[in-house]
Amino acid sequence: MSKAITINPANGETENVYERIDILEAKEKTALAGEVYTSWKQTSFAERSKLMYALADLFDADKEEYARLATIEMGKTIVQARKEIEKCAWICRFYADNSESFLAKEIVNTEATRSYVTFQPMGVILAVMPWNFPFYQVIRFAAPAIMAGNTSVLKHASNVQGSAFALEDAFVKAGFPEGVFTNLNISAGKVKDLIEDKNIVAVTLTGSDPAGRSVAAIAGANLKKTVLELGGSDAYIILDDADLDTAAELAMLGRLQNNGQTCIAAKRFIVPEPVYDKFLEIFTNKMRNAKMGDPMDEITFYGPMARFDLRDELHQQVLTTVSQGARLVIGGEMPEGNGAYYPATILADVKPGMEAFDNELFGPVASVIRARDESEAIALANNSRFGLGSGVITSDKERGEKVALQLEAGSSFVNKLVASDPRLPFGGIKNSGYGRELSGYGIREFVNIKSIWVD
Ligand code: NDP
Repeated sequence: MSKAITINPANGETENVYERIDILEAKEKTALAGEVYTSWKQTSFAERSKLMYALADLFDADKEEYARLATIEMGKTIVQARKEIEKCAWICRFYADNSESFLAKEIVNTEATRSYVTFQPMGVILAVMPWNFPFYQVIRFAAPAIMAGNTSVLKHASNVQGSAFALEDAFVKAGFPEGVFTNLNISAGKVKDLIEDKNIVAVTLTGSDPAGRSVAAIAGANLKKTVLELGGSDAYIILDDADLDTAAELAMLGRLQNNGQTCIAAKRFIVPEPVYDKFLEIFTNKMRNAKMGDPMDEITFYGPMARFDLRDELHQQVLTTVSQGARLVIGGEMPEGNGAYYPATILADVKPGMEAFDNELFGPVASVIRARDESEAIALANNSRFGLGSGVITSDKERGEKVALQLEAGSSFVNKLVASDPRLPFGGIKNSGYGRELSGYGIREFVNIKSIWVD
């Protein structure tokens, strides 16, 4: 049987080895999730909320333990790992508080005696999840799906199986019946068999676009619904009236958060000609001064990348972009040592057709792009196959809002880094995927929106 291995990216040492289960066992566990669904869907919102609050309390109580696990498994700083766990607690409480009203029946006035729309659970949902936020990505899906009355099986990324099992334990400790949330330690190659399993009614995936395409194709062949969140190459436009120090600070924070491995991170910084050189100078200083180091150290600003292969791939993308004519301002060199570290890197004069413009760079590498003016900046921002988040930095909020409305993305933030918030829908367009998570929109993705007509 193959194994899922956790290698601490800060030092290259093997932390843990998790035996995979075979597909038969995975199907048995999925069948149990199907059985449990028949009773779970009958529970009241009050009962589900009580357990969801208990789960939130567990995230608070055991925050340090979960945060350390995330840091060891994928290298995010301990400071940011704690914030991730806090966000999980927030999402659980948010859906404990709001699911009943999000899914309340909607009366529709027709000529019927009574007609309305009701939102009923669907069954067992398969979640294929990535390593970059090993707790949050899962809870973002699971809290609403389970509050809606579904059950769920998780195929988590191979390098974060410790977090996956910790989540499964947390659901049980919180009092959820066994089978409501189950971790399946299977390889990616077995996902097809699971999608085809009769107990699975729908699939959600967060990850790369090749993984998304593959899962969507199989689900499509089986006529099962999918929600996909596939990352992006988010553009941030720094308008010529922006306070450049604030803009550069936001750019640095956005690019280095989670060691550069955030789907909604600022990746392409588009700057109009009059302020381009000044912005680049300030931004370079801030990126240079950010402290890279041991992610367990409280003062580290960014740690290693999650895996060595991802670091190698990123470095190749940097080299390719430079060979295509971009200017390497800082970084771009593999550090010596045992960890999967990659230094804060800036590529300037990046243009369409270059690797860093056309594809996602999932690490601490910023692309700075020159625009003639505001309208060219908008055109460059939209010249992307992705459309997840986007941002505008300006001293004129109204002007910023007008630009934000023209950006092709699932969200556009003015003077703030794009961040998910359970109160707002989250998701993308184009190759960033489809469907929405969080808010009332997210919980309605995995329900049967059913019309009732009583004549
Ligand atoms: P993947 O998309 O390969 O992994 C995400 C999840 O999908 C993991 O659980 C993985 O399992 C699984 N998976 C991979 N391929 C398939 C498949 N064909 N069918 C079913 N499941 C699959 O991401 P990587 O870890 O390889 O990262 C590569 C790139 O993906 C990053 O550089 C980044 O661009 C993007 N990414 C985007 C994220 C986001 O938040 N949107 C998060 C992570 C990555 P396993 O781990 O076992 O391979």
